[in-house]
Amino acid sequence: MFNRRKFIKLSAAGASLATLSKYVVAKPLPVAGKLPIVISTWDFGVAANKEAWKTLEKGGRALDAVEAGVRIPEADMKNHTVGRAGYPDRDGRVTLDACIMDEFGNCGSVAAMENIAHPISVARLVMEKTPHVMLVGDGATQFAVEQGMKREKLLTPESYKEWQKWLRKAEYSPVMNIENQQKRPGGKYNHDTIGMLAIDSKGNISGACTTSGMAFKMHGRVGDSPIIGAGLYVDNEVGGATSTGVGEEVIRNVGSFLVVELMRQGLSPEDACREAVNRIIKKKPEIAKKIQVGFLAINKKGEYGAYALQEGFSYAVCDAKQQDLLIPGKSAYKDEKKDK
Ligand code: ASP
Repeated sequence: MFNRRKFIKLSAAGASLATLSKYVVAKPLPVAGKLPIVISTWDFGVAANKEAWKTLEKGGRALDAVEAGVRIPEADMKNHTVGRAGYPDRDGRVTLDACIMDEFGNCGSVAAMENIAHPISVARLVMEKTPHVMLVGDGATQFAVEQGMKREKLLTPESYKEWQKWLRKAEYSPVMNIENQQKRPGGKYNHDTIGMLAIDSKGNISGACTTSGMAFKMHGRVGDSPIIGAGLYVDNEVGGATSTGVGEEVIRNVGSFLVVELMRQGLSPEDACREAVNRIIKKKPEIAKKIQVGFLAINKKGEYGAYALQEGFSYAVCDAKQQDLLIPGKSAYKDEKKDK
């Protein structure tokens, strides 16, 4: 997976990865960008946005853009927190969660789904082809296969190895910010979701959110990411929000819905995200100190912002002016565990 440290190293070495050298790390400002625009969580959002942009720049629909965009990290064999190469649960089963929401308030979701590499596309099919919002477990897999998707084994040899290592201690302790932790010995037991929000040239908003959830979670555990209102929410009159981090705390506060409602009341995207983070701190101050949760939001005008519990959160922005913008999120606490 691409991360900032790797980027600096590559740039210094004059690496030939021209695309990486174009990344711009910017200060977080609420920018009223021209539409269309797409934003998404974490550094891997840069590549995902790029894919989404192909649809947006042609005047395509935001819904198509977000589905295509998040399929990039879902397919990335180096990404162990989203899609096919995601780490398994404590029983060695890769279970995926995703949801999608369009400008009409339609939504679809799958949770704890096994053996299908692109949960976001199944979530969209749930939205478009069924009278339901959410399918889980075997039912979701069965539906995906009926819709023509390939049933495949998702546990990669690398994920299997990590799971075997984890089994030696079998300690469930999520570590913050995979991008800071990934190179540490034993620091791979992690989480991170792609949440993406796009506004198309007609001004319509859609969002998508997809994850393999917390690595080595209990079998059957579902986080915030596939839950409409928690991991993602879109209201075409107001804006959209998405979240990443320890899903239990996001669910407790119906985080993404809260952010959108706060924007409806007039808060800027960043202030709305900050308020949602503060709710988590207020309700569970002891837990809040130890975990990461980040919110990312965009309003109808295309202003965006983010806020996280801990340092280390980042998000990517792509519009006609800036294709590779990577923004470090503001945070409530310093991540004391960050690489020293
Ligand atoms: N929110 C995800 C979950 O709780 C994980 C993450 O974003 O890091 O499953």
